[in-house]
Amino acid sequence: MATASNAVRRGTVLPVDAARWAMWTFVVVNAVIVDALFLSAGSGKNGVLTVAKFFGLHAALLMLFQLLLVARIPWLDRRIGMDRLTVWHRWVGFTLLWTVLTHATLVVLGYATLDDTSMGKTFVALSGVPASLLGMLAAAVIAVIAVVSTRPLRRRLRYEVWHGLHLLLYVALGLAFVHQLQETTTFTSSAFATAYWWILWLLAFGALLTGRLVMPLWRNAYHRFRVAVVVPESDNVVSVYVTGRHLDKFPARAGQFCIWRFPGHNHWWLANPFSLSAAPGVQGLRLTAKAAGSTSAGLRNVPVGSRAFVEGPYGAFTSLHRTRPGVLLIAGGVGITPVRAMLEEAAGDVVVLYRVRSEADAVLLNEVRHLIALRGGRLHLLTGRTGEHGTPPPFGPDSLRRLVPDITERDVYVCGPPAMTGAVLSGLRDLRVPARQVHAEKFGMA
Ligand SMILES: Cc1cc2nc3c(=O)[nH]c(=O)nc-3n(C[C@H](O)[C@H](O)[C@H](O)COP(=O)(O)OP(=O)(O)OC[C@H]3O[C@@H](n4cnc5c(N)ncnc54)[C@H](O)[C@@H]3O)c2cc1C
Repeated sequence: MATASNAVRRGTVLPVDAARWAMWTFVVVNAVIVDALFLSAGSGKNGVLTVAKFFGLHAALLMLFQLLLVARIPWLDRRIGMDRLTVWHRWVGFTLLWTVLTHATLVVLGYATLDDTSMGKTFVALSGVPASLLGMLAAAVIAVIAVVSTRPLRRRLRYEVWHGLHLLLYVALGLAFVHQLQETTTFTSSAFATAYWWILWLLAFGALLTGRLVMPLWRNAYHRFRVAVVVPESDNVVSVYVTGRHLDKFPARAGQFCIWRFPGHNHWWLANPFSLSAAPGVQGLRLTAKAAGSTSAGLRNVPVGSRAFVEGPYGAFTSLHRTRPGVLLIAGGVGITPVRAMLEEAAGDVVVLYRVRSEADAVLLNEVRHLIALRGGRLHLLTGRTGEHGTPPPFGPDSLRRLVPDITERDVYVCGPPAMTGAVLSGLRDLRVPARQVHAEKFGMA
């Protein structure tokens, strides 16, 4: 639990900065090793093939980095947050695509120059060589994933369809790995090179398997989560209480979210992120969901006593990142859920801005009022629709300063729909609230 004394953190390395340093150190150290390997054994049959090899080696490194970004390593996730890691994964993914395409084009051009023939004929000839064919297939799969991840296509696809296609990345990785194994000059140029690549691939795949498969399976076998109570909060919002064994060992913090599956009620492949709407404890976990689609709308029918499969906890929206004694928590609609949980352990002077259309829409309002009263804090319930009757936007810089005059002195946590969160972040930038004091969680895909 955060205390007023540990809430002020000036002059020390912030958790997010420590994690960023760790990531950059990993990237730079490995890039240096790969460049040294390239310089010691990289020369190809001609200049173009040498450059091709350079791009191929860096493509392999980018793939391994991609695996680490999505491995859900708890230390990184709590410090950087899954949303930001996903954004990095996206940019590294597009960089990987261009690196792979450059590598492939240069390989074809290099051999075409060597054999004094056309690139088309060389491409056909190379596709008959198993090692090259595997590389080509890996490149094709990466290209397909990149295309379906471009914003226009991503928006048109159902989350599950897009996610299913995205999992083809593992096929590409397998193909690329074997391609690299068969490409003897890079993998076996020296005992050090062989040991280096094996260790790196094993580390990356080990982290991925542990974070995505072993840990969730082990946690669910250990805790045996079950639905304890289902409480309708309103016509379109429901709370699900989940109990389990040894919950004191479940390493969640208020403000985090889990990815939930309700087997038997839903198809096993349907998994949805919902924040913990109460601080986690031995008595259980709680999620509170607003009906958005079939899963969230159907949660009120989940049978009591049925199994729940819980992945997580995830996210950096916690008091681990507090830097100042005072805190401002801003929630929009059902974005109140992590804020409600954080109120249970919010240290220092607390102000809450809660934006809803009308008071009747304010989910968990009584609990929020009660917790704020316990802490001697302040609640501003901001009702209405943005742009209605020419009223000024509630999260413009002027409104924010009027509601919370000492806003620049506080940590600010904001959670809500992407548009609202964006408006708040822009208002905070205009007010020059230091970035290290601003923490956001968007209830949408990164
Ligand atoms: C970190 C996080 C925390 C959240 N916490 C809450 C909460 O506490 N309470 C709440 O009511 N809502 C929360 N949401 C939103 C909630 O996850 C979606 O409303 C829910 O998944 C919708 O699923 P559905 O099947 O009911 O609707 P669908 O019609 O299937 O989906 C509606 C929208 O949700 C998105 N979505 C569906 N599945 C996923 C998924 N696995 N991952 C990411 N997005 C998905 C879809 O892209 C679509 O835009 C949170 C979202 C995130 C990312």
